Amino acid sequence: MLAVGHSARSIYELLHSRGVTLESKAFAMGVRVEHPQALINLRQLGPRVDTRLTGSAEYFLTAPTLNKTCSAYSFCMCPGGVLVPCASEEGTLATNGMSYSRRNGTFANGAIVVPIEKSESLFGGLEFQRKTERDAFNLGGKDYRAPAQTIKAFMEHHLDKALPKSTYPCGLTATNTWDWLDQRICKSLYEGFLNFDRKIPGFINEGLIVAPETRTSSPLRITRNNQTLESENTRGLFVLGEGAGYAGGIVTSAADGVRLAYFAKRR
Ligand SMILES: Cc1cc2nc3c(=O)[nH]c(=O)nc-3n(C[C@H](O)[C@H](O)[C@H](O)COP(=O)(O)OP(=O)(O)OC[C@H]3O[C@@H](n4cnc5c(N)ncnc54)[C@H](O)[C@@H]3O)c2cc1C
Repeated sequence: MLAVGHSARSIYELLHSRGVTLESKAFAMGVRVEHPQALINLRQLGPRVDTRLTGSAEYFLTAPTLNKTCSAYSFCMCPGGVLVPCASEEGTLATNGMSYSRRNGTFANGAIVVPIEKSESLFGGLEFQRKTERDAFNLGGKDYRAPAQTIKAFMEHHLDKALPKSTYPCGLTATNTWDWLDQRICKSLYEGFLNFDRKIPGFINEGLIVAPETRTSSPLRITRNNQTLESENTRGLFVLGEGAGYAGGIVTSAADGVRLAYFAKRR
């Protein structure tokens, strides 16, 4: 039973070299954004709500952009949360976010991502993730500082003179995101931010980009029988969780485990 998550890249390479069938799949990539939680509370709940009673406010945003097939959307929004580094390979940088159980920190963060179509080559999506993470590491200063830019400066295409406070623990390096992140992603983010600012006024003026967010889901799928979860061409190999490429997040990955346990019990 193989449930190694979607960041165990060497396992994909190993499986491919052993002849296990894999296929590329669509995923999403973009940036993390951070805002004062007070702004999100105010816009989502209004000025009279005591968030000690309601908890910190969340947002779920989506915006049709460009040719309408490609939308920017929020993912894994963390109210009162913190940004975390989550690279899994040397010389690369990837960001993520989390909330502690009380969700009462002074910042809100969320991923703003853009769909990436399935690549024509098997490892094309993974290589795209890896290149973006390497570029981010190098631009950040090769010491896990993350490339960052205020959303306002991003919208105006210039470098910030100074960056606001952030929860990202390894420090930030001011960069112009347009200079290094994929242009199609940047253009979709640009249109997305315009849309989100209409829904949450201040989203642009008070927001900070910390990049990149590359690990939304796996860019590969280990093809399997969806009843038994057994690899399509390798008997006795059961693949599950996010690394198999069918689950996305804690609950669906856990549900895969439950399905396999039931199946194994019936056998
Ligand atoms: C910071 C952060 C915040 C997140 N927040 C959320 C959230 O709020 N909600 C949500 O739904 N999801 C969230 N996620 C995503 C969630 O963690 C994953 O979707 C989920 O953990 C996937 O479960 P999994 O069992 O498939 O893989 P994982 O939980 O990644 O487990 C894979 C395990 O396999 C082990 N492994 C890898 N390679 C090998 C090897 N070669 N040999 C032996 N062991 C190996 C790993 O060490 C790991 O223990 C978050 C992820 C991160 C990083």
